Amino acid sequence: MSSNKRQYKCKNNPNKFCYVCGEYIFVTPPNFTSTLQSAYRLYFYISPENLGESWTPNVLCNTCKTGLTMWMTGAKRYLSFDVPTIWRQPMCHEVDCYFCLTKIKQHGRHKTVEYAHVNSMSKPVPHSLSVKYPVCPKKNIVNRQNQVIMPNEKSELLASRLQERNLLKSQVKVTFYRSRQKYYAQYYIKKNNVCYCNDIYGLFKEFGEPYDPTEWRLFIDSN
Ligand SMILES: [Zn+2]
Ligand SMILES: [Zn+2]
Repeated sequence: MSSNKRQYKCKNNPNKFCYVCGEYIFVTPPNFTSTLQSAYRLYFYISPENLGESWTPNVLCNTCKTGLTMWMTGAKRYLSFDVPTIWRQPMCHEVDCYFCLTKIKQHGRHKTVEYAHVNSMSKPVPHSLSVKYPVCPKKNIVNRQNQVIMPNEKSELLASRLQERNLLKSQVKVTFYRSRQKYYAQYYIKKNNVCYCNDIYGLFKEFGEPYDPTEWRLFIDSN
């Protein structure tokens, strides 16, 4: 936390705003833990910059937390935007501070938020159908020290070493190759001893490849 580093006392506490989506958080916000920061990096392909600065929040909202956490587990859950909030140091605090200029209005027991539009903060870019969702690295173990994704062979070895030394929680389940077909098997059906793909579009999406229906050839495999 950087509250002691803050140079200004903003009208609204920066740590009541989500680092990822920029929205005001009405409840007690979860911390942007190192695990969630790793998920952020893998999801958006950028690092969460300037965490701990006086002009960025150190927390995220429950929607972003749940979205990133679920995505990391391999569930097909995605955030509603492709580019997260980008925070920049305000050039002039009085006219460029998102936290001061965003208005929280009280209406009886309800609050509404009127968000500021300032140069120091770029709002998230909503998800576009032309942008592919990021592929979850569920088959890899993230080396949290170096933030490096290992190839499957190495991560399996690392997982077994960690298990041997009791460094993994008892409920941690390590699965790699033995179950990898399950993500693809759902696009196939078996009828009268014939097995075929009945959702080519879905299969290509699973591969993370664009599907071009004009590109095809007849191929019969009788194995
Ligand atoms: Zn301020
Ligand atoms: Zn959020």
